Amino acid sequence: MRIDLHTHSSASDGTDTPAQLIRTAAQAGLDVVAITDHDTTDGWAAAFEARPPGLTVVPGVEFSCVYVAPEGRRISLHLLAYLVDDTNADLQAEWQRLRTARRTRGEQMVDNLAAAGYPISWADVTGLAGDATIGRPHLGRALVAAGVVPDVDTAFRELLSSRQPYYVRKPDTDVFDAIALTVAAGGLPVFAHPLARRRGPVVPDEVVEQMTRAGLVGLEVDHPDQDADDRAHAARLARDLELIGTGSSDYHGANKRTPIGACTTDDAQYERLLALPAARRPVSG
Ligand code: AMP
Ligand code: FE
Ligand code: FE
Ligand code: ZN
Repeated sequence: MRIDLHTHSSASDGTDTPAQLIRTAAQAGLDVVAITDHDTTDGWAAAFEARPPGLTVVPGVEFSCVYVAPEGRRISLHLLAYLVDDTNADLQAEWQRLRTARRTRGEQMVDNLAAAGYPISWADVTGLAGDATIGRPHLGRALVAAGVVPDVDTAFRELLSSRQPYYVRKPDTDVFDAIALTVAAGGLPVFAHPLARRRGPVVPDEVVEQMTRAGLVGLEVDHPDQDADDRAHAARLARDLELIGTGSSDYHGANKRTPIGACTTDDAQYERLLALPAARRPVSG
């Protein structure tokens, strides 16, 4: 089977609508696809609706988190919450808080860029994003539309990365709170791209161990932002901690070059995930 457990739609910072995302997955020959937008379940219903026979849709959310080190250093990380109860009030309230904070922060970054003379406005960004969870890729698209940069990737490198002066941090959820909320809502927490170093600092193995004691069930091993050494390291760590090792493309439509299905999850690992008790089941049949 071809199983891609991490993709984005226009409910967050992907460019395919949820229905298009499902068609893209089917055309790519996937058997299983997870829709995992940032901090929202808004794309789920349309994805289920668009599902063709033979494709299984796994509902999930990519939860924006932070690890606060004992010395106070903050490391951003992403938690995939699979098969979680989307009617859980605590989780929905936290995701709502994150989405609102992303708007404030996006507007602040636009202000910073506009003050430096780049011709973009918050209305450009909201015009592109609509009701979606706003992320830096929306700012990147607005910068492309304004002719400032040729593509979103360049926008990240030159203007949007955390190393740039325009960057504004967002108030993400403490990762241990996020794991507890996810578990309480019957979800299965998996650590997304744990060693994606290009994006910024990553957490040491001890933190993954602590997260495992808190209820983490899996680790993304095969991911486009992790090189061969890091994938090998993540695979070893998953084995040592008896975590499920997943693989995924982290597809974002036209916002990234990675095609859907670029990395996939082994059948046996997917079966381990399905064997765990969860609030929801994948949608298939
Ligand atoms: P934010 O959530 O607003 O902090 O923005 C981070 C998002 O931008 C993540 O979901 C990444 O997938 C995406 N991202 C990071 N680097 C790039 C890049 N070079 N091109 C396009 N998207 C990126
Ligand atoms: Fe994203
Ligand atoms: Fe992520
Ligand atoms: Zn993602």
